[in-house]
Formats: sequence, C-alpha cells, structure tokens
Amino acid sequence: MNEEPIIIAGAGPAGLAAAITLATNGKEVIVHEAQPFVGARFDGDLQGLENWSRKVDILEQLATLGLSVDFRRHPAIFGLGFDAWRTEYIVSSKTPLFYTIERGPGEGSFDTALLNQAESLGVEVKFNSRLKNIPGPGILATGPKRADAIAVGYHFRTNAANGFWFVCDDELAPGGYSYVLVLDGIGTVKSCMFRDFKNEKVYVERTVTAFERLVGLEMRDRVPHAGFGNFTLRGSEQSGKHPIAGEQAGFQDTLWGFGIRYAVMSGVLAARSLLKNLDYDSLWKREFRSSIEVSVVNRAFYSMLGNRGYRWALRKLARGDNLHEHLSEIYRPSKLKRLLLPIANIRFKSLRDDETCCHENCECVFCRHCEESRT
Ligand SMILES: Cc1cc2nc3c(=O)[nH]c(=O)nc-3n(C[C@H](O)[C@H](O)[C@H](O)COP(=O)(O)OP(=O)(O)OC[C@H]3O[C@@H](n4cnc5c(N)ncnc54)[C@H](O)[C@@H]3O)c2cc1C
Repeated sequence: MNEEPIIIAGAGPAGLAAAITLATNGKEVIVHEAQPFVGARFDGDLQGLENWSRKVDILEQLATLGLSVDFRRHPAIFGLGFDAWRTEYIVSSKTPLFYTIERGPGEGSFDTALLNQAESLGVEVKFNSRLKNIPGPGILATGPKRADAIAVGYHFRTNAANGFWFVCDDELAPGGYSYVLVLDGIGTVKSCMFRDFKNEKVYVERTVTAFERLVGLEMRDRVPHAGFGNFTLRGSEQSGKHPIAGEQAGFQDTLWGFGIRYAVMSGVLAARSLLKNLDYDSLWKREFRSSIEVSVVNRAFYSMLGNRGYRWALRKLARGDNLHEHLSEIYRPSKLKRLLLPIANIRFKSLRDDETCCHENCECVFCRHCEESRT
C-alpha cells in the first residue's frame, strides 16, 4: 500500500519504456527529465527504428512488450546508396529494413507516443528536473555520456517523397556514412562520423553538396542539428542497486549507431528486474549481449574497409531484392565472430582515442558535449 514510488532518471525511450512497464504492473512511478520536453536532444530529428537484428518485426516486438506503436512511420523497403565514385546502388527489401520515425516532442513522434502512454497509465513526468542521485528504488536512463561517434547536419522542410539515401565515403563521413531521411515533408541530412570530429563542418558541407548533386537535395527552413552516441559495453550495468538502461549503458548497435531498439528493450528489462527482483545483468546479457558483440566485430571490420572496401560491400548488399536477409545474416552471432571479439574490442578502443581532436579552440560536437557535461 505505502510502497515508495520508483524513480526513473531520463524520459528517453529507455526511461519511458521502463516507466510504462512498471506502471502497467501497478507501480507508482515518477520520471525526472532534465529538459523541458521529451526528446529534446533530437527535437524533430528523423531516425530509423531498426528492423533487421532480430527475427521479430520491431513493431510487433514493441506491441509484445506492451509499448505504444501509435506514432507516424514509414517502412524503408527501397533506397539509394552511393560509393566514393558516386556509383549508384539500388537497395530493396521485402521486409522493412527500418521504420523512419520522428524524434522529439512533435505530434506523432516516437517520444510523444511513449510519453502519452506513460501519462495515461498514471506515470508522473517531471520536466526541467535533473537528478543527481536516486536514494530509493529506481532506474538510470540518462542517455550517452561520451562521444564514440557523432552525427552532424541539418533538419529541413522538403517536397521530396518519403525515402532514404546514403553515401559510404570517408571524405564525407570518416569511418561512417552520410544519409538523408524524409518523412511526410520533413527531412534530415547527416554526416555520421566515427573519427576526425574536429573537422565536422568540412564533412557536413561535403555531405550536403554530394546529396545536392546526386539526388537534387533541396532544403527549406534548414536548422543545424547534431548529436553524439556512446557504444561502451561494460561487464555490469548496475550502479549500486539501480539498473542502467539505454545508451547510458552503452547499449547500441556499434556498427551504424542504432540505439532505440536496445533502449526500449533494456528499459523493459530494467523494470522487470525491479518487479520480480531479478538480476538485471543476467537479463540483458541473455537478451541481447551477443547481438551487440556481433555489432562490435562488424564495426571493427567496417573500419578497416576504406572507400574501396565500402564499394565492395555495397556491390554485395545491392545484389538481390531482399537486403533485410543480408543484414540479418551479418548481424547473426557465430563462433567465428565470438573468437574475433577480443581483437575487435582492441581495434574499436584505439579508434575511440582520436588524437586528431586536440580540443583547443574547438567547437566540434564532442567538445560541445564535454562543455555540457561540465555544467
Ligand atoms: C543524430 C543521431 C541520430 C541517431 N539516429 C538513430 C537511428 O536512426 N536509429 C536508432 O535506433 N538510433 C539512433 N540514434 C541513437 C538513439 O537516438 C539513442 O540510442 C536513443 O535515443 C537512446 O535512448 P535513451 O533513452 O537511452 O537515451 P536518450 O534518448 O538520450 O534519453 C535520455 C534522457 O535523459 C535525460 N537526462 C540526462 N541526464 C539526466 C538527469 N541527470 N536527470 C534527468 N534526466 C536526464 C536527457 O535529457 C534525455 O531526455 C541516433 C543518435 C543521434 C545522436
């Protein structure tokens, strides 16, 4: 009757998924969100709800986890890729590769759907409330605390049809990829880079120019937008008695930076560990540790490819009419990938220590992040 409320730090997908699970099971939940609204660090960004790393479709998985699917989305079954020589690759898939969704506080966004569901279940969400610690029962879900990769570019309005376009070229996005997503009249263009953050402005402008030439990118009312991502997987994701969920725990696809699916899965598992007094580390390790480890091996491999290697990979991936099948295969755990993991970990670690960014008189996203975390 007089149980202490469960406190959650962070109203991102991880925190809200945890709150919904707890409230559905009759718990009193208070979520503290440092920003004035949900999804503030994205604020209208378009992202992909990844759909290839597990057998079950992500929408079906969300519904099974008891989470709302009441958000605007577009299934990505057809797209255009380009290599450094600007050769075009048509990628198509029978099953959606991902669903394009909107992040932030807008109507129909992913975050708004989760917030509405949480509040309808009686969860209290306190905005402008930055938690320093949680004395009683609770869950930590405050997002990334370091930059292993950054994505920098613009949001804009457009008349273009819904779709996705990407370029794999180290001159545009070192170690990563550049992309454009469009959903119902809004778009995002980004350079997602894994090194040389200091030169982010150069890569963004090259990315914009490339998409203008390749697909006639036109941006109305463009607004700069940038973010960073954390991929550091540790042995334990408990801070004292508190489970750590989502990107604060480094749960993310290390190859390309898809973190939403892991955020909601880990949020639900964190809630279940409190509800049933289960060991959280055992739960997340059993559920998805192996697929994150595979993504670390994939990243180490990708980081060695360079432009010629990306061209080889694009040729392979564009073959056939079901890219979903190819990607599922690439993400499937195997004995070989398990054996390669220690080497992949070392390689990924050394790439993270990017000495090209000296942080003096620097305005890169990584440095801005450091500034933010000091205040
Ligand atoms: C530019 C960009 C593009 C991306 N694209 C994709 C994509 O296409 N697909 C995909 O799957 N993933 C993508 N990601 C990653 C994805 O957005 C994240 O992995 C996901 O949002 C993580 O959810 P989370 O709940 O763990 O953290 P967050 O979404 O970061 O939420 C954490 C919340 O906690 C709040 N907070 C922080 N500190 C405190 C505190 N002390 N007290 C209270 N509240 C606090 C923050 O304000 C924030 O709202 C992208 C990331 C970036 C930066």
